[in-house]
Amino acid sequence: MNLDFLKELGIEAKNPGAFDGSWLQTTGEECHSIAPANGKTIASLRYGSRADYERVVAAAQEAFSRWRALPAPQRGEYVRRIGLAMREKKDALGKLVSLESGKILQEGLGEVQECIDIADFAVGLSRQLYGLDIKSERPMHSMREIWHPLGTIGVITAFNFPAAVWAWNAMLSLVCGNAQIWKPSEKTPLTAIAMTKVAADVLAEDGFAPLVGLIIGDVSEVGNAMVEDKRLPLISATGSVRMGRIVAEKVGKRLGRSLLELGGNSAITVLDDADLDMAVRAIVFGAVGTAGQRCTSTRRVLAQRGIIDELQNRLVSAYKSVVIGDPLAEGTLMGPLIDQDAVQGMMQALATAKEEGGEILCGGGKHDPGGELSAGNFVQPTIIRAHPEMKLVKEETFAPILYIMPIDDIEQAIQVQNDVPQGLSSAVFTMNIRHGERFVSAVGSDCGIANVNIGTSGAEIGGAFGGEKDTGGGRESGSDSWKAYMRRQTSTVNWGSELPLAQGIQFGSD
Ligand code: NAD
Repeated sequence: MNLDFLKELGIEAKNPGAFDGSWLQTTGEECHSIAPANGKTIASLRYGSRADYERVVAAAQEAFSRWRALPAPQRGEYVRRIGLAMREKKDALGKLVSLESGKILQEGLGEVQECIDIADFAVGLSRQLYGLDIKSERPMHSMREIWHPLGTIGVITAFNFPAAVWAWNAMLSLVCGNAQIWKPSEKTPLTAIAMTKVAADVLAEDGFAPLVGLIIGDVSEVGNAMVEDKRLPLISATGSVRMGRIVAEKVGKRLGRSLLELGGNSAITVLDDADLDMAVRAIVFGAVGTAGQRCTSTRRVLAQRGIIDELQNRLVSAYKSVVIGDPLAEGTLMGPLIDQDAVQGMMQALATAKEEGGEILCGGGKHDPGGELSAGNFVQPTIIRAHPEMKLVKEETFAPILYIMPIDDIEQAIQVQNDVPQGLSSAVFTMNIRHGERFVSAVGSDCGIANVNIGTSGAEIGGAFGGEKDTGGGRESGSDSWKAYMRRQTSTVNWGSELPLAQGIQFGSD
């Protein structure tokens, strides 16, 4: 594998693990970034310590005090140039995402495109951080709502979107006037270093590089420090439900804000009247894409009884043609899982599925593509005929396992779909407008994303992204998600010469 693109991104054999405007010579535990496709070390680094973390926070705070005073459209101009810099490095960044996370190159490039798209979105937003003009009940009074920067934001990200989740947060948060400190997943530190370099090179011109602080380290040393740090008014955390519960509790205890993007368990309902060609394509992309390691991955298919057998047969034959192998090679449709723990997690889930009465229709084991990839974390995409009473189908196994279950009608589909702890993404395939509208109505899907004739994964950045229940309730990316990164101020100005009180209260006499 030719790794010249690493040089273009400034990745060395040994790398520093923290950035406070300069790269710090971190001295913590040595950490290796391992390619999931072949088990080889891509490069190494040393974790940042608590003292490194303090430096990163102090530098970010100082940069924030200057950045917040800049007019928002000027902040947008920096973000516009960060977007251009990401465009220039798109190819190399996409390859690194693919190499380090194991997703196929097309998805790696797509992830970088998502970073570029959100930068573009943020540039426009920098001229649209609108407040409200509110009509005062008092004469000669003006009342407004004004949005101000929040401060230094803590961003914790998961391995499966090693670049985009940071960009969703950072691009918006920068135009809102904030500094950020990023703690990436320990499994994908090189992508974090490369993305930070791209943004910092643009910001450094005017001493603003510390706005994109980076601290790579383990949870007990730097994860906890961030979560418990009162100087960080908002912690935006993406990852498992288990992590979200801990973070929410700790941030809540210090009365900070948290923005949580946690696990999912997405279902696609396919009704008897569906366009099955479209449904099959959407299900295969949703379930097999990123080897089932997306928060929005399709994990459950709820198929109406009239089409379930045909749908099942078509899915099984589509699965048999999925090319599994080197994520960077052309033609590969599915790469490896992130590590051996993930492989073990999948094998455990398969054993449980059988115990609970599930029938494996295809896949069901590890996969060996041969050669140096024999050391990689490859598995077979798997379809299991299941039933809604199985406990396992309510859990998120972060692997390419798809449960197919029969349902009688749209009512039962909605009930079964919603009967899980998570509430991220959902979809229905139907040609019946009544069923489609029912699905997205108040008595339909309880998820943050509800689609008709589109799969569950691959959201556009223009909409608000996030989910309900155990998924955490956060919203990122488009729409008015920017409000999470700002503080709201209600301001009343009296331009008259009297001092009337609200609600007509008379206090004392003239
Ligand atoms: P993870 O929870 O293991 O780790 C995520 C991040 O949280 C890492 O940076 C990790 O170091 C950090 N972390 C873990 N415990 C922490 C603690 N106590 N304090 C502070 N930081 C802590 O998740 P993962 O395996 O990297 O990612 C997979 C999970 O992420 C899946 O559940 C997936 O659904 C979810 N995810 C959700 C979204 C979304 O937008 N809803 C997006 C991507 C991934």
